[in-house]
Amino acid sequence: MNALTFRGVENVAFETVPDPTLEEPRDAIVRVEVAGLCGSDLHPYFGREVGIERGTVLGHEFVGEVVELGAEATRRLDDAGPGSGFGVGARVVAPFTSNCGTCAHCRAGLTARCQRGQLFGWREGGRGLHGGQAEYVRVPFADATLVPVPEQVEDPGLAILAGDILSTALFAVELAAVADDDVVAVVGCGPVGLLAIRAALAAGARAVVAVDTVESRLAAAERFGALPARAPSGGVDPGEALAMVLERTGGVGADAAIEAAGTPRATRSAAALLRAGGRLAAVAVHSEPNPGLSPAEMYDRNLTYAAGRCPARRLIPNALRFAAMNDALVLSLISHRLPLSSGPEAYRNFGARAPGWLKVLLAP
Ligand SMILES: [Zn+2]
Ligand SMILES: [Zn+2]
Repeated sequence: MNALTFRGVENVAFETVPDPTLEEPRDAIVRVEVAGLCGSDLHPYFGREVGIERGTVLGHEFVGEVVELGAEATRRLDDAGPGSGFGVGARVVAPFTSNCGTCAHCRAGLTARCQRGQLFGWREGGRGLHGGQAEYVRVPFADATLVPVPEQVEDPGLAILAGDILSTALFAVELAAVADDDVVAVVGCGPVGLLAIRAALAAGARAVVAVDTVESRLAAAERFGALPARAPSGGVDPGEALAMVLERTGGVGADAAIEAAGTPRATRSAAALLRAGGRLAAVAVHSEPNPGLSPAEMYDRNLTYAAGRCPARRLIPNALRFAAMNDALVLSLISHRLPLSSGPEAYRNFGARAPGWLKVLLAP
């Protein structure tokens, strides 16, 4: 089959690799309809995350059709009863990690930390999973990992976004415990931040102040329903956002803040906008040893800091419903739909943050 593989830093190849096969009784093979190119794919691409094996098929976002299903996965899905299972021929979306569905973390809804879970598109030392930027992909624990796509979600782009960034946006709102009448700050207006704006409003937020340094992102934030606030680039000063938040909260500060940029600077801006007792949710990937917020500051202002990888499998059903209800807005995040063979070029442009490259879909 054809696939995009990791060949080294800033080196992705479109090449022929062996077709995946069922290896375990709970595996499925999915024929990929569309794969997503995600901001997190750029971490190994630029060598910011190291250890990925040469030849690994990249990608952790995919929608497709189940073409083979192991005996044990079939048995478990049959046991799930009519309406809740799926079989060969089903159109499915995957979260970015596999999950067993039965371990303590899965049962607690923390599917992204499944004790037997693995990230798609990451192989190291001969172990791990190939990814979805290919014609076919093997999915372990398929009965617990895959989610059937409802009929009303026709556009594969909606399902792709539900599988990762939209789930992450819903998770941000959950972590920040956004409630009715809250004033919420969103720091970082990439695709996750934009969807978090919409999700916070859907959860009852009275106003969302969106902070970014880039004018085009602020224009998008306004389309998603936020009050846009320009932050000066380079500093930790939240700029005009603070005045906007104070004006809407009687001088107190935001009830909740969502940090969707993944930098200590963004953490500091988000914290500066919060009232005493405010809640800060961090859902972007962080790779620094220090979050930019000290225990003393959290203590002195009774702040709650919550962070982590989104348990996408648990949130995908909600995300699919949300996507169907907000389809035009959600689809506006997709900037490019390209053949899989354009993958190496897409990585270059997306990686260089070329103007207009927001979200890329690749079709085998
Ligand atoms: Zn992703
Ligand atoms: Zn598990």
